[in-house]
Amino acid sequence: MVAIAKPQQEIKIGPTQLLINNEWVESISGKRFETINPTTGEVICDVAEADAPDVDKAVTAARKAFNNSYWSKMSARDRGLLLYKLADLIEKNKEELARLESLDNGKPLSEALNIDLHLVIECYRYYAGWADKIQGKTIPISGSYFCYTRHEPVGVVGQIIPWNFPLLMQAWKLAPALAAGNTIVMKTAEQTPLSALRVGELIIEAGFPPGVVNILSGYGPTAGAAIANHRDIDKVAFTGSTEVGHIIMEAAAKSNLKRVTLELGGKSPSIVFADADLDYTIAGVHNGLFFNQGQCCNAGSRLFVEEKCYDEFVAKSVEKAKQRTVGDPFDPNTKQGPQVDQDQFDKVMSYIESGMRQGANLLCGGHRVGDRGYFIEPTVFADVEDEMQIAQEEIFGPVMSIIKFKDLDEVIERANKTIYGLAAGVWTKDISKALAIANNVRAGTVWVNCYHVFDMAAPFGGFKQSGMGRELGEYGLQQYTEIKTVTVKL
Ligand code: ADP
Repeated sequence: MVAIAKPQQEIKIGPTQLLINNEWVESISGKRFETINPTTGEVICDVAEADAPDVDKAVTAARKAFNNSYWSKMSARDRGLLLYKLADLIEKNKEELARLESLDNGKPLSEALNIDLHLVIECYRYYAGWADKIQGKTIPISGSYFCYTRHEPVGVVGQIIPWNFPLLMQAWKLAPALAAGNTIVMKTAEQTPLSALRVGELIIEAGFPPGVVNILSGYGPTAGAAIANHRDIDKVAFTGSTEVGHIIMEAAAKSNLKRVTLELGGKSPSIVFADADLDYTIAGVHNGLFFNQGQCCNAGSRLFVEEKCYDEFVAKSVEKAKQRTVGDPFDPNTKQGPQVDQDQFDKVMSYIESGMRQGANLLCGGHRVGDRGYFIEPTVFADVEDEMQIAQEEIFGPVMSIIKFKDLDEVIERANKTIYGLAAGVWTKDISKALAIANNVRAGTVWVNCYHVFDMAAPFGGFKQSGMGRELGEYGLQQYTEIKTVTVKL
């Protein structure tokens, strides 16, 4: 359980400047900032730091590419071919990209490769196929007219992404926007700038014209805010905390009413009935919470367990958590790496303290692992009450909160007592119970006897304060088009 990172020289770092108009440039201020290896707490390298003037420069390039370039005249099918080419290049370089992802983010290399990179490649291919299938309708209006709709790109799109799945969040944002013909100014998360920049190199290699994709490393209140406030950005797509989601929407409203899509926080209920296959379910809810160091907006972080199987479920869940191997993300046996940075580490530890203070029953974990890096023991609290902080707020770490319930109606009501509505899980052999949960829990995704099942064709997004709009699938594509109605007098 000791964290030792492989020597960095084995990992090719890639570009560290800003990508604007297909050129690698320093920021206008000349400022750079450090990105940290969460396994050791040491500096990996520094990268150029974008601020408002760099955002302006990138928006100018993106606007020019949108208005009058080779890109805007390119056929939809050729746009699709470029996306296929990018997917092929990412596939060719997937081992290198996965290593960079693990280095900068701390996630286990095997997961970066087999889960993140796998889904990244699928995402670009899925939307490549959509590029020439974005169609309007002919509409039978009254009178002597011919009426039809065109699904046109929104324009210049600002995209702000988080650090928990850096490459995957980049793909979820870039692929549908490009398939629909938009141009992009993307700001990556300050904790994890490196892998997205390497994809920038592959974007140039694939042959995307200058200005179509611009990638900026930088901080939220500076570069991120400049995107949200910009008057020449037509849409902002944001993934991150609910708190910042409010700021983004306010900035969009105050500036130019740019379109807004938000994928925000969650406190998703995972509901276990006593008739479920217990061992299968324990493995499923374990993964539903601990996967990616617990750093998933859709983590099943409120675990409701029926009274009749509660004691056995708790005992077995604790055993499973104790067996989870924490350590070097480059070790193939590692299941859990470090949290992404000191801030996240401190936040998770303070939630663990709050759980103890408010009387939840700490059954395992609760401490730091090792003496460097940001490792935390897999932690399980039982006898958690609905109003405790650990049952209401997003912890974003390896902390399981188990809550007891008695019956179906009660658990539906309690599951819905949250400001969030991102996802939910239900575990039962009774189809009626499963569908009662699926129909009545207010969440954008409900998984029945499974969790974290993502497919590029299935939409994902939040009810309530977990977001606005959907990503993935055809629904996700719609968020990157404007509908134009054309009426012709016959
Ligand atoms: P987390 O707390 O998980 O880091 P955030 O919502 O703070 O989540 O960050 C998600 C993304 O939003 C990051 O790219 C971050 O830089 C950006 N961000 C943070 N604050 C702002 C802001 N005020 N305006 C725009 N973007 C922001």
